Amino acid sequence: MEISYEKAATLKVHPQDSALGFGTYFSDYMFNMDYSPEKGWYNPRIEPYGPLQMDPSTMVLHYGQAIFEGLKAYRTDSGAIQLFRPRDNFKRFNRSASRLCIPEIDEDVVLEALIRLLKIEEKWVPSAPGTSLYIRPTIIATDPYIGLRSSHTYRFFIILSPVGAYYPEGFDPVKIWVTTEYVRAVRGGVGEAKTAGNYAASLYATELANKDGYTQVMWLDGVERKYIEEVGSMNIFFMIGDEIVTPALTGSILSGITRDSVIALAESWGRTVSQRRISIAEIIEAHDQGELKEVFGSGTAAVISPVGRIKYSGREMVVGDGNVGPFAAKLFKELVDIQYGRAQDPFGWVITV
Ligand SMILES: *Cc1c(COP(=O)(O)O)cnc(C)c1O
Repeated sequence: MEISYEKAATLKVHPQDSALGFGTYFSDYMFNMDYSPEKGWYNPRIEPYGPLQMDPSTMVLHYGQAIFEGLKAYRTDSGAIQLFRPRDNFKRFNRSASRLCIPEIDEDVVLEALIRLLKIEEKWVPSAPGTSLYIRPTIIATDPYIGLRSSHTYRFFIILSPVGAYYPEGFDPVKIWVTTEYVRAVRGGVGEAKTAGNYAASLYATELANKDGYTQVMWLDGVERKYIEEVGSMNIFFMIGDEIVTPALTGSILSGITRDSVIALAESWGRTVSQRRISIAEIIEAHDQGELKEVFGSGTAAVISPVGRIKYSGREMVVGDGNVGPFAAKLFKELVDIQYGRAQDPFGWVITV
């Protein structure tokens, strides 16, 4: 597919690597492509980054037909740029699309478009330790219409945001807060799709957690409110005695690529990861018996996020000794080393741009 390219009149001043934070700076260019039932996906183009013009009746603004992905480009020590499992992101993107009645994209075309964009924006991939270029592919419904149905037209875009090191002051455990009052998703709903409304739905409980001094919410299943699902925008793992456990993918949980990578790495080290139902009661019991060795989240943003404390029903449990566990630390190091090209990639996860 022929991708057109419009040059920007002026380029932005790059922020310092030390000032990046997360999600506030955007590169000079974006990729755009439109969809209509007659033409399919058409007019793929790289253009200067800029505002989208839309009618106030644009469907995405009213009914939330929107999906996105999140992945990163990493600068290696030799200056090359690597992507981590990008095809898996585009496969998941298509599963989200299908669930939201959005037309699917051609994974190869979109990966090629991303690589083309990254080659133009190569200098936007930061190089300070732990920094990366966050990539946000998105599709929104664009019909100017407020009757309720799925849109006929769509816009696909990719924007790029240089982001700082997630752990600038060292690998630090987070405090999480279990809600029994609010739920994120139910089986049969859209919990396994990366769709905008899931995140809007999570804000209220997250604010309550923040007010109580916790950084993220741990969600329980929407029906019985007993079984652990995930945390914020991360999947969750527990080490109970010698067993490594993560909730099974039952339809309400996002199928994380980092989650899958953790399972594959653990297995390559001769450990098995049980994917099963796991209740909050089981976690409390393991904690009280001194068997709750480690808890950690997995996701693209933080890679591995060790959990130091869990609050449930007014009671705070300290995980292990409250510090980062050795298994989480080993996973973090290995994953990051593969992403930045410092370790062998026996899984074929990495693509060089
Ligand atoms: C994106 C996301 C994850 C993590 O997925 P990765 O592919 O590992 O980044 C987990 N849970 C939710 C709700 C998410 O949106």
